[in-house]
Amino acid sequence: MPSPKAAVITGSTSGIGLGMARSLASRGINIMLNGLGDAAEIERTRIGIEQDFGVGVHFHGADMTRPDEIADLIAATKTAFGSVDILVNNAGIQHVAPVDEFPADKWNQIIAINLSSSFHTIHHALPHMKAAGWGRIINLASAHALRASPYKAAYVAAKHGVAGLTKTVALEVAEQNITCNAICPGYVWTPLVANQIADTARTRGISEEQVKKDVMLLAQPTKQFVTVEEIGEFAAFLCTDSAKNITGAILPMEGGWTAK
Ligand code: NAD
Repeated sequence: MPSPKAAVITGSTSGIGLGMARSLASRGINIMLNGLGDAAEIERTRIGIEQDFGVGVHFHGADMTRPDEIADLIAATKTAFGSVDILVNNAGIQHVAPVDEFPADKWNQIIAINLSSSFHTIHHALPHMKAAGWGRIINLASAHALRASPYKAAYVAAKHGVAGLTKTVALEVAEQNITCNAICPGYVWTPLVANQIADTARTRGISEEQVKKDVMLLAQPTKQFVTVEEIGEFAAFLCTDSAKNITGAILPMEGGWTAK
């Protein structure tokens, strides 16, 4: 890995993106945070990572539906740290509805954030990686890049698209010391998920443990949530030189879900 190292992580103001930011920062990698949220809270997060790991951490608020802002995010990373060595495409949203009732604007928004933004970030980041002769691209896909669920047409289509983009980019840069992979989590323990448990238990009249095992983790044979720390450590490994022959891979991390 060249020095100094810099990673840009889309959607890293919370959840999985933040977990990956902390794991990469723990390896001494400078971080460009991105995402939506309360400005004061984001600033606390930014300073917290700087203090915990002694790396440079910047924030750029590019909206992943805006190609011009995405171009600026990559340019700002290069300006801040002198290189764009690692790109993690993580920003994502969900909407659940039957396909014949699925709002067209939601479809467009999910395709823009969950799929097209990854094209735009890669489009702008790759020239920097090619010039440096080293790069790592990690796309946060989902078990839904490999399996479908009803009522998630846009999400499943976007995540399958991410898998195709991952393989294509990997082939294009295979001889240039740049890898491109997709991590496919199942259900991940995030504050969003944790906050739903008590409500669901109350609504269904079952215990919180039953909500976790029989409702949320129905598809996940291990009956355990994936943690953001596990995903962060997996991403950090993919950024090492030991992982240079892992490329174009669609990597499940879903407690055995897609083995069925
Ligand atoms: P989250 O809601 O905690 O985080 C999403 C991040 O994306 C936030 O930082 C948010 O600000 C950002 N974001 C949303 N819209 C944006 C926009 N227009 N521009 C810029 N940033 C935007 O969600 P999460 O669970 O951490 O999910 C992260 C990724 O992991 C997503 O791609 C999601 O599809 C994927 N994933 C999540 C799970 C899970 O169980 N949580 C499972 C599989 C895959």
